[in-house]
Amino acid sequence: MPAHRPTRQPVATNHPYRLAARGDRPDTIIRVGAAALPIGGDHVTMMAGPCAVEDRDALFEVAEALSRTGVGILRGGAYKPRTSPYSFQGLGEAGLELLAETRERTGMAVVTEVLAIEDIELVARHADVLQVGTRNMANYRLLDALGQAGRPVLLKRGQGSTVEELLCAAEYVLAAGNPDVMLCERGVRSFEPLVRNAFDLNVVPLLRELTHLPVIVDPSHAAGRSDLVHGVAVGAVAAGAHGVIVEVHANPEAALIDGDQSLDLDAAAMLVDSLDVIARATGRAFTRATRRVAA
Ligand code: PEP
Ligand code: MN
Repeated sequence: MPAHRPTRQPVATNHPYRLAARGDRPDTIIRVGAAALPIGGDHVTMMAGPCAVEDRDALFEVAEALSRTGVGILRGGAYKPRTSPYSFQGLGEAGLELLAETRERTGMAVVTEVLAIEDIELVARHADVLQVGTRNMANYRLLDALGQAGRPVLLKRGQGSTVEELLCAAEYVLAAGNPDVMLCERGVRSFEPLVRNAFDLNVVPLLRELTHLPVIVDPSHAAGRSDLVHGVAVGAVAAGAHGVIVEVHANPEAALIDGDQSLDLDAAAMLVDSLDVIARATGRAFTRATRRVAA
């Protein structure tokens, strides 16, 4: 079962995105964190962790368990873009400090969202990958500023954005000087009330054709329900995605945000095993980080 292999095409100078376009470029491989974990090319990656950083013990518990399964990149939101201003907005700088502390203890790399230009420097000091959420995909001044952030960017597709708009958003970061952009399909708005968003599987092989940038999927925010996450994740990786970012919580029922879509620790370990199998079946390798958990 070969993974989707992109075709090559010339890039016209009047193209709306040029640096992001596949052209005759090989796949971009982004190196993340102190361990230089590869994302892109023939590497399959899993990033995982809670929706939000909640407290030191909960974060360390999930990170330690994930690290034991070989997951090398920890996700966790310190700044949460919530629909209601009255909902928990994240721990902010205190959350960043917990992420950095957990990075130190486990050796994991950290991905976390940055909401505003003025936060970039602070977030970049505590994290290895800066996430741009769906609500900010078209925040062009933020994208432009991320060109000088000195950290890879995980750019999520806007919840109502076309593929071309996503690629143009990536182009802003690339054109501003940062070559390390990974794209993330996280579902788009639909009429279906039984799931949170419609996961758009088309865009996985489509993006592999159109761009050399790594393609990541977020089955958690796409499905909105933990029972669908495993299937969506393995399907997308089989279709050519370079990896997944999934929400995991040691006790999903008690999660402050997005417990319904969070895998528990056993389910996360099962997903690691499945992605390893799919990676090998498609001629690629699952990136297993070396575990380092200090007392
Ligand atoms: C998240 O990953 O925490 C998040 C808020 O995702 P999205 O921007 O895709 O909704
Ligand atoms: Mn979430």
